[in-house]
Amino acid sequence: MTRTPAYRRILLKLSGEALMGDAPFGINPEATARIAAEIAAARADGHELCLVVGGGNIFRGLAAAARGFDRASADYMGMLATVMNALALQNALEQQGVATRVQSAIPMASVCEPYIRRRAVRHMEKGRIVIFAAGTGNPFFTTDTAAALRAAEMGCDALFKGTSVDGIYTSDPKLDPKATRYPVISFDKVLNDNLKVMDSAAVALCRDNGIPIVVFNIREPGNLRRVLAGEGRATVVSQAA
Ligand code: UDP
Repeated sequence: MTRTPAYRRILLKLSGEALMGDAPFGINPEATARIAAEIAAARADGHELCLVVGGGNIFRGLAAAARGFDRASADYMGMLATVMNALALQNALEQQGVATRVQSAIPMASVCEPYIRRRAVRHMEKGRIVIFAAGTGNPFFTTDTAAALRAAEMGCDALFKGTSVDGIYTSDPKLDPKATRYPVISFDKVLNDNLKVMDSAAVALCRDNGIPIVVFNIREPGNLRRVLAGEGRATVVSQAA
């Protein structure tokens, strides 16, 4: 049976932590292979995918600045960390037979392609998965904002934010047993209530461009496919909610 996906082209944002498995930092090959298998399955279902991966499993600019580093230099280090993660994901995807391209917002010609919007669109049309590395290429931003920016540039139908919880809750479900999950919520409520989904610049960019954000648990096996098919547990942040 061929399904007509509600979200044909999506941007999947993964935090660097998704690649570290149970380790406290770094890149875990098994965790990376598992995520790659989830992505490959979504691709096989007919979705066009591009990815933005964070760098928090290796280096976070803000944390380093708090310990005395110059913020801009620390942020450039953080962006370079995302390139390592992008190459790890590329490797894991290609081991599963999925064609990929890495495009970096900070050009590094001998490692990957530079970010070129029209070229990225073409790759996706050809069925390749494009992995966007080095965030926005600017310090003082996050990879969440990079994800919102690239989702808008690529004309994505939604931004999928893979986390370790299955959506947005009324309060912290780890602390409050009465906490309930919002199936849908508006951009304005997320911003006004300062709900920690993505940073506010990313949420505002999605709101202004009408790109829904789907928050779901990437650690649960098979979940990306289920949520893409409208079956899994998630919270959808949208204009209409
Ligand atoms: N970063 C940046 N500009 C960007 C994206 C990222 O300076 O456009 C830096 C920033 O220092 C950040 C680090 O890269 O802390 C890693 O990204 P992020 O913390 O967003 O990764 P995640 O939390 O998703 O793993």
